Amino acid sequence: MYCACETDVLVSMGVARDAGLAVSVRSGGHSTAGYSVNSGGMVIDLSEMKGVVLDEDRALVHVLPGTPFEVFNGALNGTGWHVPTGACGSVCVAGFVQGGGYGYTSRTYGIQSDKAAAFRVALASGTVVTANERANADLFWALRGGTGGNFGVVLQVSYHMVRLPSVWGWSITWQAEQAAQVLELLQKDYTRQGAPRTAGLHDEPGLLQRAGGVHGARHVLRPAGRGLRCHRTPAANPRRTTGGGQGGLLPRAEQLF
Ligand SMILES: Cc1cc2nc3c(=O)[nH]c(=O)nc-3n(C[C@H](O)[C@H](O)[C@H](O)COP(=O)(O)OP(=O)(O)OC[C@H]3O[C@@H](n4cnc5c(N)ncnc54)[C@H](O)[C@@H]3O)c2cc1C
Repeated sequence: MYCACETDVLVSMGVARDAGLAVSVRSGGHSTAGYSVNSGGMVIDLSEMKGVVLDEDRALVHVLPGTPFEVFNGALNGTGWHVPTGACGSVCVAGFVQGGGYGYTSRTYGIQSDKAAAFRVALASGTVVTANERANADLFWALRGGTGGNFGVVLQVSYHMVRLPSVWGWSITWQAEQAAQVLELLQKDYTRQGAPRTAGLHDEPGLLQRAGGVHGARHVLRPAGRGLRCHRTPAANPRRTTGGGQGGLLPRAEQLF
């Protein structure tokens, strides 16, 4: 059932209840374990429920469940506000936040669920509730890491935003013939300590690529590599930072060495 609004979700849940159908909920469809589909039951698909509303006075942003990060980041880029998101632009808010959600800036700001302020949730009974620190606090706790599809259908997430005026994005791509050497080195150095907290990175071993972002002063990157070239992401130029294979936060991959 492709839902465009809350009423569609509630009607779908009612149909599933009456017909005795098992329900799976899907937003971005990125569950590699297949938790957002089922056989013989109903899939409630929220990929059409996209939207981002900023409340700058309260440093909050309200986001619909099927909002992919290329849209979420695209709405925040250029505002100077930020919420940690992931490396893939087509992953959606609802599944990501319920699994915690690690992104390029998580070493400074935490995982995405740390920034969740409130959820709007349709329970199996058909009741729509708010879950935050004061109301339904145990549900609020469970939704921040309890993984998706277990506690109801998430209809909206509100986040606390942080200020992030600009970031530096970088990536390194190795040649296929260097694969064995690179993977060995990455494994050996994987847990090295001492990197600045403002630096975050993601590895794509399958693509032999390592990409990252740094916010604040560019000089923190200097120890990371001679000849490192990086791009400043101007907060005032949102188009340069959206889309592309790296999702919204980073500019397109740059060859560095
Ligand atoms: C290419 C790729 C890149 C990724 N990059 C990162 C990354 O950088 N950082 C990171 O932390 N993770 C990353 N992930 C993992 C990703 O965050 C999880 O797979 C996440 O659950 C996907 O959410 P989704 O909404 O896109 O997927 P879905 O498959 O739609 O949902 C995932 C789970 O959440 C449930 N769910 C979805 N929507 C709702 C809803 N509205 N209400 C209740 N339950 C719901 C589903 O039932 C399912 O259990 C990546 C995954 C892929 C495939």
